[in-house]
Amino acid sequence: MKNKFFTQGNPHLALLSFVLYPFIVFALIGLYLIPFRVGYLKEILGFGFFSLLVYFSFLLINSSKIRKWWLLFSSIVLSTIIFIKLSFYYFYSVKITSSAVFVVLETNINEASEYLSTYINGFVIITFIVAFLPVFYLLKSCLKGKDKGSILEIVLCIKLKSYRIKIIYLLLFIISSYMIYWKFRQENFLFSIAKSYKEYKETKLLLKNNLAKPESDVLTNVVGHDQPQTYVVIIGESTSRWHMQIYGYGRETNPLLTEIKKELFVFNDVITPNVHTITAIEKILTLSDTKNANKKENGSVIQLANQAGFKTYWISNQKPVGYYESIPTLIGSAAKIKKFIATDNYNYDIYDESLLPYIEKALQEKHSKKIIFIHLIGTHVSYHKRYPKKYNVFNNEFDNLKFKHKKAIEYVNTYDNAVLHNDYIVRSIIEKVRKKDINGYVLYFSDHGDEVFDTMDFIGHNEYHGTKPMYEVPFVLWLSEKYKKNNPSYLTINSMLDRRYGLENFIHSFSDLSLIKFDSLNLSKSIFNSSFIYQPRIIKKNQNYDSD
Ligand SMILES: [Zn+2]
Repeated sequence: MKNKFFTQGNPHLALLSFVLYPFIVFALIGLYLIPFRVGYLKEILGFGFFSLLVYFSFLLINSSKIRKWWLLFSSIVLSTIIFIKLSFYYFYSVKITSSAVFVVLETNINEASEYLSTYINGFVIITFIVAFLPVFYLLKSCLKGKDKGSILEIVLCIKLKSYRIKIIYLLLFIISSYMIYWKFRQENFLFSIAKSYKEYKETKLLLKNNLAKPESDVLTNVVGHDQPQTYVVIIGESTSRWHMQIYGYGRETNPLLTEIKKELFVFNDVITPNVHTITAIEKILTLSDTKNANKKENGSVIQLANQAGFKTYWISNQKPVGYYESIPTLIGSAAKIKKFIATDNYNYDIYDESLLPYIEKALQEKHSKKIIFIHLIGTHVSYHKRYPKKYNVFNNEFDNLKFKHKKAIEYVNTYDNAVLHNDYIVRSIIEKVRKKDINGYVLYFSDHGDEVFDTMDFIGHNEYHGTKPMYEVPFVLWLSEKYKKNNPSYLTINSMLDRRYGLENFIHSFSDLSLIKFDSLNLSKSIFNSSFIYQPRIIKKNQNYDSD
């Protein structure tokens, strides 16, 4: 390829046309694919700096031979990055995150081939060809050898006139690297892959050592019943009972659960041991409790269910990797069937109804003993992203507000809408189970609540404030007709609804309800058992929740 324009004096432009080509393709196609303007700008700037880095690094090399291969290598890297990024945005409308990488790494080969075949289409093929055009050209030129006057030759012959210019390029190179490191690390593909891989390895290590194994050595002599059973445990997120109609809230945030309230056992005084997901979930779902947090030798309800002969499912709408998500992932990994539908961070909205088809599928599977654990995104901040438009029901100022400023009004409204949507999710799951006419239960609780201007001028959850709405969670049980018939003692549950209970002892309630026995089972810690004994509920650093 010969070109007079470049020959006559613009070798830098020629080089830029190579290096910036992927950038321009990314900027143009990205304009249509990247959903948020800020996200788009960050991606473009991040990739722009990375492209400049390649440009400066090329100029800093003296040997034209090394330059040639370096240019080919950089082009392959740049084209691959934009191809993967654009494809990911095309299919998921989200940035590639460590969770996405985790899901990819967790996917087995069989699934992967299935996955690929469903993802190769016209867009992918055209994007691939467009993205790799410079690579095709360079490959041809590099392999063919010298071609005088070609763009490649011109580019390779660029000479820096003085050391001063070289130093300027070196400085620019350093500045670009700095910018990427400080401002656009999250957008940088190589950084995020390296980070994801590290996180993945670390999580894996924890998983292998303890809770992710299908069975636990700590749980001994586990025995379950032989009769057919299908149990569903719904783990909510950030939903406090302070905003739930079935707990007496003044707005109709639970119309669907209220409709079947006679069938529900609504426990009135259940609290969570911690107000953060990971610390709470760890104590709720395993043998750990407030006295023994992060037990080294630990077992979970999922392992218990596996050992009792159940087929277990973990269906989650929470991001599988990251500091805040690692514990539930770890615990969920013990399940025989795992499904994580959320691969992005909390800023993106995948509504909980996306879980319903997977729950339906699990319910349909022919297996006489099943336990399905569902991990919702629930009413996690940002509240307005947790429900589709249709649930935007509460828009006005609620009469009973303690704080009446604009922010409070807005947050209470969006939280209540999210609670309303959550009501639909829980009811839908109950109806799915009811339809199957099986021996089973649906149990719903939340990992913790949120303060939404209920007791103080504050939004969210943290242990420092540790207000009641952060600790007081819903705990609601629904039993199928067959379960009631098989376990006539259920009638006594009505007398247990006011028990003061801490979810740190959940594993005992769970086993009791699921008819599972094991060595360290302590029925006095089961909220459903006649031998229940009230245990002091310790929160924070040795504070008795009930003595305030
Ligand atoms: Zn949480």
